[in-house]
Amino acid sequence: MESNLPVRSQETEQAVMDPNTTSTNEKTKRSLECAEARRLLDMYGEAVQEVLLLHDQQFHSIVEGDIAANRFDLLIHGANHRKQNAKYAYIQHLQEHGCSSVQHGSNSD
Ligand SMILES: [Zn+2]
Repeated sequence: MESNLPVRSQETEQAVMDPNTTSTNEKTKRSLECAEARRLLDMYGEAVQEVLLLHDQQFHSIVEGDIAANRFDLLIHGANHRKQNAKYAYIQHLQEHGCSSVQHGSNSD
């Protein structure tokens, strides 16, 4: 009995490296000149980090079999609330102050 298993030709997937990758200097992409906007954005970022941290802690508690891991739900809920508040505060400031250098489309009037 001959078993002629077809030899699968392994496709050598080469990572397509585009040699023409534009090395744009992203350091100078945008900087918030308004100190208040930057402060609000920082707070938003911290709130996001807090949510992530809590999710991480909750995950580890669950992995370790911590029955009380659901206590994190309350903490995460609170952190999410702060995150939303921080986001809205930031967006509201940008709208009221008009200091955003982030361009949403090209309508500037
Ligand atoms: Zn501002």
